[in-house]
Amino acid sequence: MSDKKEFSIQTSLIHSNGVDKETGAVSTPIHHATTFHQSDFDQYGNYDYSRSGNPTREKVEEAIAELEGGVRGFAFSSGMAAISTSFLLLSGGDHVLVSEEVYGGTYRMITEVLTKFGIEYSFVDMKDLHEVACAIRPNTKVIYMETPSNPLLNITDIEGVVKLAKAHGCMTFLDNTFMTPLLQRPLSLGVDVVLHSATKFLAGHSDVLAGLAVTGNEEIAKKLAFLQNSFGAVLGVQDCWLLLRGMKTLHVRLKESSESAFKIARFLEKRGEVEHVFYPGLTYHQGHEIQVRQAEGPGAVLSFRLKGAEEVKQLIDNINIPVFAVSLGAVESILSYPSRMSHASMPREERERRGITDGLLRLSVGLENVYELIADLSKGLDAIKLTKPSRIINL
Ligand SMILES: *Cc1c(COP(=O)(O)O)cnc(C)c1O
Repeated sequence: MSDKKEFSIQTSLIHSNGVDKETGAVSTPIHHATTFHQSDFDQYGNYDYSRSGNPTREKVEEAIAELEGGVRGFAFSSGMAAISTSFLLLSGGDHVLVSEEVYGGTYRMITEVLTKFGIEYSFVDMKDLHEVACAIRPNTKVIYMETPSNPLLNITDIEGVVKLAKAHGCMTFLDNTFMTPLLQRPLSLGVDVVLHSATKFLAGHSDVLAGLAVTGNEEIAKKLAFLQNSFGAVLGVQDCWLLLRGMKTLHVRLKESSESAFKIARFLEKRGEVEHVFYPGLTYHQGHEIQVRQAEGPGAVLSFRLKGAEEVKQLIDNINIPVFAVSLGAVESILSYPSRMSHASMPREERERRGITDGLLRLSVGLENVYELIADLSKGLDAIKLTKPSRIINL
């Protein structure tokens, strides 16, 4: 597979690890060794200590670098470890401009940890390029994007933000967890560092925590390698292997789940109990046209709004297929309740201002039979109707 570049991502995903050179094994060997024998007194081999480099971890790092079109990838013990380590590229006195719809853990890292080291931040509505331009300060070092956003799937114009960043000499980071490199390749749009919670679609089976960072810039790659080794939050070899295995089927999983998500979005928008469906594939969705331009598809996550908490309870009590939990991007469909899960710590007013009301649910569509999923959701929505009259009487 020396000419991998000729092949589609679908094919590369299957063969990106190649076969093991020594044994011909088609599954990447797990190298448990933490230390490596050096055969000469002053000539050292490629590996010395596993925090600095490990052959199994290297396979994941090469795979994600290839998929994202970067020069180097880095594997971390979680998405937050990848994100936090990348923030160590900043120094005290620097400023980071962040999408206000950022992942909760990233929000916490920026507002409660980085501030201790004198790193300043401000949140902006990344959908609004004018607002972004106005918020850039002389000490802004990083503009941090997440698109589509969570949980409302709002779209940021990546190239628009990159242009502003470049004009002001700032780096750009982008959390690509929701899209994966199959649907969105931010480095090709000029982004400097792409971040992943590989816990989600890339691994795909709700059984491994992992994080990845990729860059297309040699300078940044050197710095990230230094920081990964210095901070030390590397991905363990067993988890590297699980992630590699998950990534092999990413194409078929994401394709199937995205098609199902589209069908479910279309089903939900026709239901009277549903006030609004948030899905980048719908033509009326915020940023739909930008999404069509910058990504290969709308993905497998959608959100929908019911009237309120009571309606959410009725639905949850009457469906059987999706697990009701945090997280996303797995073989099983996962229904999440942002106002009580991921955004529970946000004051109600802030939350509602961002559209995360008590009636909002997020669905990460898995690989179940889509017609069974729709029938299940339909049963849940029917239950809302059925209880309405009794509620009126109770009032
Ligand atoms: C889950 C998630 C993270 C954090 O990743 P972990 O692997 O849980 O540490 C970051 N960003 C997004 C968009 C996520 O969904």
